[in-house]
Amino acid sequence: MAAPHPESWIRVTPQGLYCEPGDFFVDPALPVARAVITHGHSDHARPGHDAVLATPETLAIMAARLGEGGPRSPQPLAYGQSVTQNGVRVTLVPAGHVLGSAQVVLDWQGSRLVVSGDYKREADPTCAPFEPVSCDVFVTEATFALPVFRHPPASGEVRRLLDSVSLFPDRAHLVGCYALGKCQRLIALLRQAGWDRPIHLHGAQASMCELYGRFGIALGELRPVPRPQKRGETVLPGEIVLAPPSAEASPWMRRLADPVTAVASGWMRVRQRAKARGVELPLIVSDHADWDDLLATIAEVGAPEVWVTHGREEALIHALAGRGVRGRALHLLGREEDEDAAPEPEPEPAEGASA
Ligand SMILES: [Zn+2]
Ligand SMILES: [Zn+2]
Repeated sequence: MAAPHPESWIRVTPQGLYCEPGDFFVDPALPVARAVITHGHSDHARPGHDAVLATPETLAIMAARLGEGGPRSPQPLAYGQSVTQNGVRVTLVPAGHVLGSAQVVLDWQGSRLVVSGDYKREADPTCAPFEPVSCDVFVTEATFALPVFRHPPASGEVRRLLDSVSLFPDRAHLVGCYALGKCQRLIALLRQAGWDRPIHLHGAQASMCELYGRFGIALGELRPVPRPQKRGETVLPGEIVLAPPSAEASPWMRRLADPVTAVASGWMRVRQRAKARGVELPLIVSDHADWDDLLATIAEVGAPEVWVTHGREEALIHALAGRGVRGRALHLLGREEDEDAAPEPEPEPAEGASA
């Protein structure tokens, strides 16, 4: 008997991708009884689910970020381990996106679908590397699915930041980056590049760095941004400060010494975006696969069919057709095009805001 096509057992519903025989959703947009979650970013890990299957790291991130709205019945599953839910085998495999991020491998009656969540292929010292899994259907994001998006090595971008710090020793360097993933990756890359001074954090970044630390990701000495002692005084010349991108437009940044404003995002490839945001030092650092890596990954997993969740679906599907791969746009609701683009809701930091 031929294996059933995944289309017959996985479908798109208003809540999200639903596995019918297993009776669970993957990264649902609305509260459900049983969810499998790829990673902790807010467009994937929503509040209000009952049972949640995810890596221990993702469950910890969800508990920290969602509080009361966190998983009521968490079911930790380590990378490479499997559980069977109503005959559907679920395995979590590293996605290389952020700490704990996983691809969800679903096997049912000889047919295999892989939901990759968000992923990248470039090495990241703060999370396990992406592992390609051969499958019948590969579900992929398409955030940077245009040939213009080719991310340079992140280490070179961090070198540019350090060059600017030595060029402007009297100025603080304020780097806008998201609190989950990008912030810790930048810190780890700065440490690899030899920056061993304390790194200063906006209040919104600190708790996630502590969580990474609890999972064994060493980030070196991190400190809050001090308040100026006197009116008109500024702080941290020659130092590096990481903050959510939204903080760059807030009065909070006025306490810093003549800050050079940087943003670390895949979108910094687009000069107009950097200019429109008044970013002096755009750093192209992304936690998503670029155009080449999307195509290389799809070739590597060897799936004859690819379902595209969000981003530049048309361009990717067109390119896949030229390679003999059938593409399908899922039009999932509630996905941001990228964490880089849409600010995640962050709690107001205890310190910060005023000054
Ligand atoms: Zn993500
Ligand atoms: Zn996402």
